[in-house]
Amino acid sequence: MNALGSQTDELAVARASQVARGLLTAHPIFIERAEGARVWDVDGNRYLDFAAGIGVLNVGHNHPHIVAAVKRQLEAVSHMCFQVAGYEPYVALAARLNRIIGRGEDYRSVFLTTGAEAIENAVKIARAYTNRPGVIAFRGGFHGRTLLGVTLTGFAQPYRQNFGPFAPEIYHAPFPDTYRGWTAASSLAALDELFATEIAPDRVAAVIIEPVQGDGGFNPAPADFMQALRDLTSRHGIVLIVDEIQTGFGRTGKMFGFDHFNIRPDLVTIAKSLAGGLPLSAVVGRVDIMNAPAPGGLGGTYGGNALACAAAGAVLDLFEGGELVAQAVRRGEQLRDGLVELQRKYSAIGDVRGLGFMLAAEFVVDRWTKMPDPQFADAVMSNARERGLLVIKCGVHRNIVRFLGPLVATERDVAEALRIFDAAIASSVTSRKPGSGNVAE
Ligand code: PLP
Repeated sequence: MNALGSQTDELAVARASQVARGLLTAHPIFIERAEGARVWDVDGNRYLDFAAGIGVLNVGHNHPHIVAAVKRQLEAVSHMCFQVAGYEPYVALAARLNRIIGRGEDYRSVFLTTGAEAIENAVKIARAYTNRPGVIAFRGGFHGRTLLGVTLTGFAQPYRQNFGPFAPEIYHAPFPDTYRGWTAASSLAALDELFATEIAPDRVAAVIIEPVQGDGGFNPAPADFMQALRDLTSRHGIVLIVDEIQTGFGRTGKMFGFDHFNIRPDLVTIAKSLAGGLPLSAVVGRVDIMNAPAPGGLGGTYGGNALACAAAGAVLDLFEGGELVAQAVRRGEQLRDGLVELQRKYSAIGDVRGLGFMLAAEFVVDRWTKMPDPQFADAVMSNARERGLLVIKCGVHRNIVRFLGPLVATERDVAEALRIFDAAIASSVTSRKPGSGNVAE
């Protein structure tokens, strides 16, 4: 099944000769058509898509409600640029998000195009509000590929390469890591030390954190850590930015990741599943902070594009009118049970972790040393694709396979994904070479 055919080969040759090599594609296939949790490549091979555009398609590919909303908007006005003149879908979407995230408090929103742009703007807003320079991010955090984004990102490679100098006044603290014995208490102690040795808290504008590290390895932040971080940032007048770009819109079994911790962030960044496949991101937050930048300080030609706002409105209809979050809980439990079962079967799986339907399996050379095995993870990913399942990797060592299936995936879809993953691991075990250790991709 899924043998590469001539159209794939032709496109692969064209890609190699026309597209910059800095763009790495996880799977050497070209997709022609998509629907729900499935995609078809140019040679007619069908795949269960548990990468979902890296967590963009929580409502599934080409949902008819979204397609209809975008078509309607396309025939009315597709692009105006909010800095030139307003349009209703932008304002209506801001009102809905302010209500959903603000929960009764006075909130404001600004729309941008990509996740990285939302991050950039959240930092600008926090600096304008506090009049301080410093920003604290976390090791293993991922916040995008713009220069500020990669500076905030807590990975050395491949994101940083020789792209420096990087943005000044960015500091990194360790993120708790239960699997490797790094507790919430040790992370808080490290933060205290950072305040004592590198930057005093009254010079810090913002702390930025993912509720579950996405690209960093699907590490959920412990609730006591997030609550302590909320207390500490409030005490020092630091803006707490929660990056919900990957965790948002039901992925973790609640509408937003921060809902697990009983805390309220000051600013929330969202993108990915916000607009069901169209490029849209936002910063949503408390009015006093959001209104700190003077008029003209925020914006972007495509930010809050009318088609994307219409798509996002349709996404919110699906969440408000449906069962998507409950579905994430159910499918997440099924997937977790299945992965834990596979962990019992294969010693190559060192850990299974995540929240809701945001789950991953970490591959290690052995369970004692926990030495990362990125080559094995690669083999599993490729073997899974050959059997009809698309998944991608994560983790600073690229030894973790993550599952980001659409929340509309059925019980049968998840069972099929688990069956294929099992077979992919079995065949990778057969051809296993010694682990390559700490090699980033
Ligand atoms: N923040 C998080 C948590 C992400 O997962 C990502 C993308 O994977 C980003 C920021 C950057 O988003 P984008 O790739 O749309 O710039």
